[in-house]
Amino acid sequence: MASVSLQKLDKSYGALHIVKEIDLDIADGEFVVLVGPSGCGKSTTLRMIAGLEEISGGQVLIGDRVVNKLPPRARDIAMVFQDYALYPHKTVGENMAFGLKVRGVAKDEAAARLREAAEMLGISHLLDRRPGQLSGGQRQRVAMGRALVRRPQVFLFDEPLSNLDAKLRGEVRTEIKRLHQTMGTTIIYVTHDQVEAMTLADRIVILRNGVIEQVGTPDEVYNHPHSVFVGGFIGSPSMNFTKARVSGNRIILDEENSLPLATGRPRNTVVSEGQEVLVGLRPEHFAPLQEGSVELTVTVQIVEPLGSDTLIHFKLGNSSVTARMPPDFRAASGQKVTIGVNPAKLHLFDIASEKVLK
Ligand code: ADP
Ligand code: MG
Repeated sequence: MASVSLQKLDKSYGALHIVKEIDLDIADGEFVVLVGPSGCGKSTTLRMIAGLEEISGGQVLIGDRVVNKLPPRARDIAMVFQDYALYPHKTVGENMAFGLKVRGVAKDEAAARLREAAEMLGISHLLDRRPGQLSGGQRQRVAMGRALVRRPQVFLFDEPLSNLDAKLRGEVRTEIKRLHQTMGTTIIYVTHDQVEAMTLADRIVILRNGVIEQVGTPDEVYNHPHSVFVGGFIGSPSMNFTKARVSGNRIILDEENSLPLATGRPRNTVVSEGQEVLVGLRPEHFAPLQEGSVELTVTVQIVEPLGSDTLIHFKLGNSSVTARMPPDFRAASGQKVTIGVNPAKLHLFDIASEKVLK
């Protein structure tokens, strides 16, 4: 196992600046997820750590060794890709053991590691099959098995679940988490899916246009987003944003609705009278009116019963807002309803910079 350190890590393709002086320290045994929209530079960053992509500037350290100039094979890492990259004409067992053979691991040792990894992944009965005779989920397990047998210092995953259907994605996700808990090996995992990031990570790194937007535990990035981007990216359905104006000790949302400025989180907020701000409210922080919540009067536009809960959509100020209500909540389209929102869960952002107001 080893720590990984990125120091001013930089990548350009010609005039295209893709990864912009990233600094990140990953502890030995930590599970770190790089998350961000497609094209933000996640794979490029991971491939620079792996040695599959040349570094334009800065350093990558694995343990206390600068690996910038080392070929992938000498870095003691193992990578799992989205497309599995299995040899179609080799059996599962041969696919998993191939890397060991190439690296000169003794036959007995290789066989023992293969048995152990296959058992861990529940694919012992598949070792004689070829990839073409496996389901997508099984192929992904073989790809992970091939990485496991290597017993590397660091595992790198690039969107490993993207080719699986939703149900399998959930299953394999749990398995990856279990593997990490069992082995404790450092993992750097890339995904565009914030649910994967939230469920798997010790720490989440949110990337945007080649820049780290925020680093934190799942709880930190969910509860204390530093920017509109992070607030909107983490959480599903997304955080709602609406423009509002500070008036006295209240934030005016529209003619009918306002929120108290003084209670809850934005207590220390520095805002001035009349200032326009961006209010962030998560769907799950709305509920039927109850003690401690602030009353809002809204006109329901759309109702979406999901079984586990009911989403309602309405206008607040000029914005369309989604609220997550209890399963049995019902309203007709066009109906005026009174609901509550937890004022302690309110986020305030600066309109120009889109950074949180502290
Ligand atoms: P992500 O994995 O976050 O979706 P990538 O790291 O794959 O994004 O790509 C980041 C950006 O770099 C994209 O805009 C992509 O088009 C660009 N890019 C990737 N590889 C190359 C390349 N070989 N030449 C030029 N641009 C590239
Ligand atoms: Mg990618």
